Amino acid sequence: MRLLLVEDDAELGPQLQVALQRAGYAADLATDGIEAEAAGNVEPYDLIVLDLGLPKRSGLEVLSNWRNKHIHTPVIILTARAGWQEKVAGFNAGADDYIGKPFQIEELLVRINAVLKRSAANVIGELQTSHFKLDEQTQSIILNNGEHHDLTGTEFRLLRYFMLHPGHVLSKTVLTEHIYEYDEDKDSNVIEVYVNRLRQKIGADLIQTRRGQGYVFGADQ
Ligand code: CA
Repeated sequence: MRLLLVEDDAELGPQLQVALQRAGYAADLATDGIEAEAAGNVEPYDLIVLDLGLPKRSGLEVLSNWRNKHIHTPVIILTARAGWQEKVAGFNAGADDYIGKPFQIEELLVRINAVLKRSAANVIGELQTSHFKLDEQTQSIILNNGEHHDLTGTEFRLLRYFMLHPGHVLSKTVLTEHIYEYDEDKDSNVIEVYVNRLRQKIGADLIQTRRGQGYVFGADQ
């Protein structure tokens, strides 16, 4: 999953970006309202974490502009703890959730996870199939026979994206856009390599190849 983090605080922004990356997300950072709006307009983010107090253009205005353009990417707003008016205005502008500053990173991660699952596949709780479950804390998979397999960062991002979009035909381009950050070297041929590695860990049948179209996850679900 690929996120946009919009935070102008020079300390908090990079700190959150690293925390999101450690949690297995590709995370781009924008530090003002205009940059954020432009990125959200063109990049296919799975979720946006949006501070409301931003230079150049306020977070509320950015959010309204996205929604007016029918950009429905889920948005979690960062608000002042006591500012209930801000929260109301944020929900009216189209926010999906909010978190009051200051907050613990763990709380933000839990909310991101919940909003992503709600919006992607209406999944609640753990991501699992009849063969295995994905442990998002340890970024590993646990097979029904109890075997554990650790995943690399990219394998984890890819598998989580598949599991949140079961039954969809996902092209290499789409997968690339959702698992890599803006400035990362994006080679969609590498997806093939990662898909094959995942197949070795979860079983070959769970990710089907559709020639010329891409991949479909979880025909058994
Ligand atoms: Ca701010």
